[in-house]
Amino acid sequence: MKIGVLGAGQLARMIALAGYPLGLDFIFLDPSADACANKLGEHLHGDYNDPRLLAELAERADVVTYEFENVPAEVAEFLAAHTRVYPPAQALAVAQDRLVEKNFLNTLAIPTPPYAAIDTLEQLAQVMPTIAYPAVLKSRTQGYDGKGQSLLQSANDLPAAWHKLEGVPAIVEAFVPFNREVSIIAARNVSGDVVFYPLSENIHHNGILRVAESKTGDPLQQQAETYISRLMTALDYVGVLALELFVVDGELIANEFAPRVHNSGHWTIEGSETSQFENHLRAILDLPLGSTASIGKAAMVNFIGGLPTAKQVLTIPCTHLHLYDKTPRKGRKVAHATVRAEKTEQLASAIEKLTRLAEKTDDS
Ligand code: AMP
Repeated sequence: MKIGVLGAGQLARMIALAGYPLGLDFIFLDPSADACANKLGEHLHGDYNDPRLLAELAERADVVTYEFENVPAEVAEFLAAHTRVYPPAQALAVAQDRLVEKNFLNTLAIPTPPYAAIDTLEQLAQVMPTIAYPAVLKSRTQGYDGKGQSLLQSANDLPAAWHKLEGVPAIVEAFVPFNREVSIIAARNVSGDVVFYPLSENIHHNGILRVAESKTGDPLQQQAETYISRLMTALDYVGVLALELFVVDGELIANEFAPRVHNSGHWTIEGSETSQFENHLRAILDLPLGSTASIGKAAMVNFIGGLPTAKQVLTIPCTHLHLYDKTPRKGRKVAHATVRAEKTEQLASAIEKLTRLAEKTDDS
């Protein structure tokens, strides 16, 4: 069985690593000659919208999936006309436009911050009294890891924030004074069976995820499961889905969802009976989904822009290192380490040591 993947970055690499024990082969389409999943399968080298390569991918793969949500809608539709593509194209279409996404969440009664669509500086100035300061101005599309975002503290910030976007359609939303950020990851297979992972509590800095920690038994687990179930049912979803949420005074407010495996679920490789990567493959192949039961306590620390030595990381007890085989570059995720421990103190101590190591090489 051959799995086609749009994108050959670290997420595709970890999907392939989970697929080998299941006897799966992989074929990746990626414009980068040295994309880090290439060694784990065949590589179709070229643009995502190259019709010749897409036809080859559709012809040769039994099922096609993707590792990022900015796949052009036409590409997903072209592939879907020729082969099975999961998650469904509609999930991509909704997730890749923050305005469509927030409207969709609201139709499902999943709370979001107040927001408004923005196409001109005048419009931005007009809506701000309703949204109120502080607020965040974001591009509607192509945004990830906080890119294309500006914090608005007062009316003085509007012109610079607007001009930074260079005229692309935008959305302004109220800044959420969150107590913490969490995400829920779930998997749904073709038959409609669903499993949920324990909430992950996530720490971002400059819009980029730094640390994610499993929170088995979190009091908000049930509410988060209710919200992500609504999304999966409405989208007739197949695969792994991640929903990012703010926690404010014990209530969940949705930020965004990602129709793919997610950075905040990397700790599931060692911290869960079945990882998010394996469950994504099981879901798109309509296999029985694996247990998401926790194995001890788990957390993940990202290495961004640079790397400590393997020895420095592995000296820390309870730690596992995942190198992505990527050349370090400013702001680039190049590796992560998972900590899995039985005791809270062991976990906290390892997270602290790893965070200190990560900060030494982090340039973002
Ligand atoms: P995003 O690219 O929208 O996921 O934003 C990246 C990170 O920026 C989030 O995980 C938050 O830490 C922060 N952020 C984005 N939007 C908001 C908001 N409306 N209120 C507070 N923090 C935000």
